[in-house]
Amino acid sequence: MVELIMAEIMDQSPNLTWDDIAGLDFAKMAIKEAVVWPMLRPDIFTGLRRPPKGILLFGPPGTGKTLIGKCVASQSKSTFFSISASSLTSKWIGDGEKMVRALFAVARVHQPSVIFIDEVDSLLTQRSESEHESSRRIKTEFLVQLDGAAISSEERLLIIGATNRPQELDEAARRRFVKRLYIPLPDYQGRLELLKKLMLNEKHIITEDQFVKIAQISDGYSGADIKNLCSEASLEPIRSLNFNDIQTIQASNVRSLTVDDFQKSLTRVRPSVSPNDLLQYIQWDQIYGSGG
Ligand code: ADP
Repeated sequence: MVELIMAEIMDQSPNLTWDDIAGLDFAKMAIKEAVVWPMLRPDIFTGLRRPPKGILLFGPPGTGKTLIGKCVASQSKSTFFSISASSLTSKWIGDGEKMVRALFAVARVHQPSVIFIDEVDSLLTQRSESEHESSRRIKTEFLVQLDGAAISSEERLLIIGATNRPQELDEAARRRFVKRLYIPLPDYQGRLELLKKLMLNEKHIITEDQFVKIAQISDGYSGADIKNLCSEASLEPIRSLNFNDIQTIQASNVRSLTVDDFQKSLTRVRPSVSPNDLLQYIQWDQIYGSGG
């Protein structure tokens, strides 16, 4: 299991900077202060300044939660462990509980460590009658490990849970994630920044004004949607070729991307998050979030 964890779950040197994440200034600042600095300077962050051992990132899918987890590990010079909670209950069936124990053990050996748990809701949902015995055991083990990490002040272990369904977390789970940050859809500035970032290495003739226009009309798109939008647009120059040309054309002769390509892709790629879903996140944030 240790070998499996090191091969599939562990990333010794994630390499990401805060600039790789577009927008989300509030979340980035809150995370730097709450967890990154303390991991770099555990000697200063003691007593009342002691950092939380568990933080929850919640919000619609595709908004950069995984990127943030990776960036925290990278910036705090930590080993990054990333696992999706649903794989614990599906891929590792029967062994899920041992897997959780082994994961925390390996993370302790490689500290400072960041353990990123995607879809944490599927691990920590409210107990139901129909719950499988094995998932019940995984959940119990996970809570035990979280508590263990919270108690020890020496260990440099940070657990980041990510979820698109915060409403499904029970009180026991919420209590263990002391800091709960809403990672919303990108605002206009975030979309503009992301669009430009994604197009940086592409051949295009899109002007500043046109970028502004695209950022304005893509309101409601997640970061992942914006990325799809750009990928879709980038295919347009190829679509305008006929099959023979595709086989023979020099890569440098493929025409530049234009704003028209984006106009087409905007009709094909639609926002993946519904306004109703957004409302639920905002409400949950108001009750349980640590936002400003
Ligand atoms: P989540 O974990 O919130 O579901 P991810 O972090 O996996 O989302 O993001 C999915 C993809 O969308 C990323 O790989 C990245 O390409 C893009 N993306 C989403 N949000 C951002 C952002 N704020 N900055 C840069 N890229 C983003």
